[in-house]
Amino acid sequence: MNAVDTLRVSVTDRCNLRCVYCMPPEGIRGIPPGEILRYEEILRLVRIATALGIRKIRLTGGEPLVRRDITRLVSSIAAVEGILDCCLTTNGVLLKDLAGGLKRAGLDRVTVSMDSLRRERFEKITGHDLLHRVLEGIEAALAVGLAPVKINTVVMRGVNDDEIVDFSRLSVDRPIEVRFIERMPFGKRAQTRGCGLWEKEGIAGDEVRRRIESVFGPLEPASPAVPLPGPARLYRIPGSLGRIGLITPMTHPFCHACTRLRLTPAGRLRNCLFSDNEIDVRDRMRAGCGDEEIRDAFETAIRSKPRHTEPTFSANHKWMVEVGG
Ligand code: SAM
Ligand code: SF4
Repeated sequence: MNAVDTLRVSVTDRCNLRCVYCMPPEGIRGIPPGEILRYEEILRLVRIATALGIRKIRLTGGEPLVRRDITRLVSSIAAVEGILDCCLTTNGVLLKDLAGGLKRAGLDRVTVSMDSLRRERFEKITGHDLLHRVLEGIEAALAVGLAPVKINTVVMRGVNDDEIVDFSRLSVDRPIEVRFIERMPFGKRAQTRGCGLWEKEGIAGDEVRRRIESVFGPLEPASPAVPLPGPARLYRIPGSLGRIGLITPMTHPFCHACTRLRLTPAGRLRNCLFSDNEIDVRDRMRAGCGDEEIRDAFETAIRSKPRHTEPTFSANHKWMVEVGG
């Protein structure tokens, strides 16, 4: 099995958008504030994790930028010895004002999620008319050097698949990595391949690639620009500054190569996005456990990482916003 080198830390389950694929239409109940990990607790866990080989921290959520004083957390994590890469995934709505401070705090990069370049469609997918804010956020990130900026786009047939070429074009003149993600069927409509939501709205990464190549010609393989790259298969439109990534959990699952551990906002270690097995570390910390006992919990989570070969979805599966994407 691959060594675990990445901890995805979900700092909140709250969000200022309501993306259709990420949470149920009625929203989620939300974790009471007292149950959310405090920054000092997160920092302690990061220190323990680095001693076990974690080198990359990705802050996520919910929307990490809605958590108060997130820059303070970034600066403490970036200063931890052993962390090579500290990055953050955001919907970009609050990024314009925070980009400079995050960069100064030591953030290496951002990934911005954006599923449409068209105002009304963006509103339909996210429930908010805020595309302009996301675009300003991306500009701010590029301006302060949070590069390469990655853009995550979940491709949905009949919803935004006619924008694949427009999104790809963003990678031509600027150091932007556009990553097309296969939609995963979470929530009550969750079903495995072979029925339902994936069949209706899913678009395989290979089809995305064919559509890009029908306009720009054959894509070239590209190598990652960052240490400890993630699961995207990377390409480049010949002569372009940026990259195109295909993230294909449905058609080319990458479970066998997974090197990640997740920490939920309520302080549970989760060793697989698709399994609801979690190990609590918050209550251990709050009960006064020493670092050794917490380290044991990490070791158990790492050792028991599932060895399945493809994702599984069930109707009870938590939504992405709850787990931390
Ligand atoms: N709020 C931040 C954002 O939107 O970037 C961070 C959290 S979000 C859960 C992290 C990533 O998960 C986003 O890029 C989002 O598009 C992706 N995501 C959420 N639900 C998904 C689904 N059902 N299938 C594929 N990707 C999903
Ligand atoms: Fe919020 Fe990100 Fe989920 Fe959209 S994808 S609802 S922005 S957490």
